[in-house]
Amino acid sequence: MPTNPYAWIEESLATIHRADWYRSVQTVHGLPGATVFLEGREVINFASNDYLGLAGDQRLIAEATIAIQEFGAGATGSRLLSGHREIHRELERAIASLKQTEDSLVFSSGYLANLGTITALVGKRDLILSDQYNHSSLKNGAILSSAEILEYPHCDVEALRIKLSQQRQNYRRCLIITDSVFSMDGDLCPLPALLEIADEFSCMLLIDEAHATGVLGDTGAGCLEHFGCTGSQLIQIGTLSKALGSLGGYVAASANLIDFLRNRAPTWIYTTGLSPADVAAALTAIKIVQQEPQRRIQLWQNVALLKQVMQQQLPKLKLLPSESSILCFQLPSAPDALKVGQHLKSVGIFAPAIRPPTVPTSRIRISIMATHNLTHLEKLVKALSRI
Ligand SMILES: *Cc1c(COP(=O)(O)O)cnc(C)c1O
Repeated sequence: MPTNPYAWIEESLATIHRADWYRSVQTVHGLPGATVFLEGREVINFASNDYLGLAGDQRLIAEATIAIQEFGAGATGSRLLSGHREIHRELERAIASLKQTEDSLVFSSGYLANLGTITALVGKRDLILSDQYNHSSLKNGAILSSAEILEYPHCDVEALRIKLSQQRQNYRRCLIITDSVFSMDGDLCPLPALLEIADEFSCMLLIDEAHATGVLGDTGAGCLEHFGCTGSQLIQIGTLSKALGSLGGYVAASANLIDFLRNRAPTWIYTTGLSPADVAAALTAIKIVQQEPQRRIQLWQNVALLKQVMQQQLPKLKLLPSESSILCFQLPSAPDALKVGQHLKSVGIFAPAIRPPTVPTSRIRISIMATHNLTHLEKLVKALSRI
């Protein structure tokens, strides 16, 4: 008797439930913003990556609508076939100008930008050094590349140096990959030290700016600008879907590297070009990032205020070290985190529990927006003081 080859799925789901790792979606209604309607009820939104409040901005909506009317709903093909438009290049030039690089290339998502770039840059004879807390797209890009992968402890520059001094000579090319803002912790990679090590051991360095673009640095250029390293040679990957409020990913680097990716990155070559609406929305967002620094200033004021108040009034909450607009506090277990997340939701605060396997320890993740006002922040602190 042949056994049901799909029976294992039910068992696996049961295991996921038992561990309290089960995930499901929650339906949001209306425009995205500092408050949203979640399952029919208005909540203050501390769950989104829309740091500057641009996803629901009328200017992005208007420009996306015009682009659909002018260029259609879809790109119709790969950029190398029928899917390339002048607005794609315009967006790539705008990203390069924001990031102060020679050129850039847009992908259908940040995830695909990481997969495609890493697989194009290294292969079997090469070595990847990867921060232990890196985003899934970096980790899976590394696996897909077939390079040898060594993980180093989170942000541990000395451990990285030791691994390189032992291993570097055994490989052809070497690539160091790291989040710049760690997405589930909120801390920053030690960029100046990483640049130095990359130089010393002749390694390429790739940073993932998903949570830094539009947010960090005086002009919103990201982590390089924040650390005063603008112009350094490295590869910057990012997304159009967080502070830029649209959809898509990008790579910003030298003109040569971008030219190479157009010829060698499979997730760019063999996939449909970004839709006109996404391109137009992202382009409008970049202009706003450059023309309205007050949004960033407001965001950092909100972050500073919330941190200060939480440290003073809620000293028992175990805040993880953060230098970004992501603030996390740790909880002993996944069920605890779920319970706190549920409680917050019941009092009108949307701040999700993040559990293994996404992170090693369970936590509540609060992401702060430029468009949160004082009342929003006060309500959060009040709700937290009751747990
Ligand atoms: C969100 C995220 C991505 C993926 O970007 P998408 O455009 O949403 O696919 C990649 N890296 C990090 C660190 C992220 O947080």
